[in-house]
Amino acid sequence: MNISLFGERFGCGCGVAELMQDVGELIARFPDALLLGIGNPAVIPELKDLYRRCAADFFARSTEFDRALACYDDPQGEPKFLKAFATLFRERFGLPITEANVTEASGTQQALFCLLNIIAGEMPDGSHRKILIPASPDYVGYADIGVDPSMFVAAPAKIVYPPDLSAPAPLTMFRYEVDFDAVERVVAQNDVAAILISRPSNPSGCLMKRSDLTRLAQIAERIGAWLIIDSAYGGPFPGIVEDEAELDSVFWTPQTILTYSFSKIGLPGARVGVVVAPEEIIRMLSTASAVVGLAHSGLGQRIARPLFETGEILRVSREIVRPFYCKRRAEAVAVLAEECKRAGANVRIHSPEGTFFLWLWAPDLTISSRRLNDDLKEHKVATITGDTFFFGLSDAEKEMRDPV
Ligand code: PLP
Repeated sequence: MNISLFGERFGCGCGVAELMQDVGELIARFPDALLLGIGNPAVIPELKDLYRRCAADFFARSTEFDRALACYDDPQGEPKFLKAFATLFRERFGLPITEANVTEASGTQQALFCLLNIIAGEMPDGSHRKILIPASPDYVGYADIGVDPSMFVAAPAKIVYPPDLSAPAPLTMFRYEVDFDAVERVVAQNDVAAILISRPSNPSGCLMKRSDLTRLAQIAERIGAWLIIDSAYGGPFPGIVEDEAELDSVFWTPQTILTYSFSKIGLPGARVGVVVAPEEIIRMLSTASAVVGLAHSGLGQRIARPLFETGEILRVSREIVRPFYCKRRAEAVAVLAEECKRAGANVRIHSPEGTFFLWLWAPDLTISSRRLNDDLKEHKVATITGDTFFFGLSDAEKEMRDPV
């Protein structure tokens, strides 16, 4: 079959698609398999009840319910939801925004596809602008987003062992931090349109320090780029972070574009992502939404809207979601330490500061992470192979990270 260059992107091995296929195949073979790789949220009973009540209230608002099913929404999103979101972020967190700075999308993944391809890739003058991952590894879901296949460049994160980090024996704890010399080298060699991070990071669980965000924002300002912070797991909602103070304030500068998701707070099926950005970016994203899908489903926004109007979403994040995942994270680290002790395994772990993930590094492993991933499948366990998260690095830099 003849397919376009764009089509070729979907014909073979994209990171995210491979991951979802892997999971599908494993479940078909072993329905009781342990799915440790994908970022599906837990079903938290209090949340399930809350969302059912929100949905019942929405069904009872019969005129609005009928309209939501019978009419296309504005491609920017449901106006009352956009207003509630902007008001909450302006009044509680001081962001200088109105609803003109907010757009909805069918999930953050779809929002980022449009956003990154609008600002980077081939430019009208034939040059190519890049998206910089400033502390690689980062979310594999970005890797194949670029219509321009070489959209990403990356700077490898610096590995540090802060003395105040303690892990249960025999685990050793480390952290990824921004290597600003490496960032400056990449910036000097490329035309960077945006610096992109997931915060906290999928996959490592690293919560980039606010001082590093400030330095990245300064670099972005200096080079005329955006700083895009993907807050799928962060504060103020869903708040899947160890540091509770993260729920009290939102990092923002005029160069910052923020993305949020309903998925990790328990509503991945609603497919709602939100972008906060300058008006001209929002207008382009809305137009892209109209071109790609006319409009988004307004059901999720309408069901959850009262939580934003009342600020209840912040209470839910602080009192239900954050404590749930903090407890689970501590339990998972304890089990891991116990099993490593039993097996005599030398395992390093990234400081678990947020998200659902633990990022492990086994320096004595004599096989590649890909081979380990395949072997684990035979034991009914799905993980994600580490090498997929180092996109944007040179081959030599990748080799240093996954050497076997
Ligand atoms: N960003 C990160 C860091 C993620 O982990 C995910 C999903 O796992 C997404 C974005 C996409 O989320 P969604 O499209 O469900 O909003």
